[in-house]
Amino acid sequence: MTKTKKYNKHNSKVSSSLSPALFLDRDGTINYDKNYLCCEKDLKIYKNIEKSLIKIRKLGFKIVIVTNQSGIARKYFTLAQLKKVNAKLLKMLKERGIKIDGLYYCPHGPDDNCDCRKPKPGMAYQAAKDLNIDLKKSYMIGDSVRDYIFGYKFGGKGIMVLTGHGKKQLAKIKEEKQKPLAVARNLSQAVNVVIRQLKTAMYNVQ
Ligand SMILES: [Mg+2]
Ligand SMILES: [Zn+2]
Repeated sequence: MTKTKKYNKHNSKVSSSLSPALFLDRDGTINYDKNYLCCEKDLKIYKNIEKSLIKIRKLGFKIVIVTNQSGIARKYFTLAQLKKVNAKLLKMLKERGIKIDGLYYCPHGPDDNCDCRKPKPGMAYQAAKDLNIDLKKSYMIGDSVRDYIFGYKFGGKGIMVLTGHGKKQLAKIKEEKQKPLAVARNLSQAVNVVIRQLKTAMYNVQ
């Protein structure tokens, strides 16, 4: 009994120190969107993403990938294939010096009415629980309107990038009540928007 108590005490101490997170979409944001990318050989990461991501980690951010993979529900590829692609992506990012704290995917289709398909915030809630994340201080970056909306739905902010489907999605922003914090040319520019905002917040405190 005493042991359990102690453990709980320790646990609550740990969970009270929350970190902000940078949530990233996968296809069209980190790697080129191949339209239902199925295979490791098609995985190609955008150039020059490492510098800003390494910098934001040093500022105390966790990095979490959140990806809708309805190709599973549509039977375009299997769960085993998806897991291989994800593992390869993590390996390629690691080789570039980028550590990823978590990767979450939604395997469902648009009609499955699950809680995890973006823009629904399910994957962010799960990550917050697993990784002690402060969602209010977190950001989402992605190439679709539903990505930046996801950022607001979990209680943080969202930025859209013009890589992947970004340019086509741009017109759709007009239909949305909520606008992205910024529209950035690519991932590293989007991360720099976040870094600049953090610095501004720091100056405001002083
Ligand atoms: Mg995408
Ligand atoms: Zn889902």
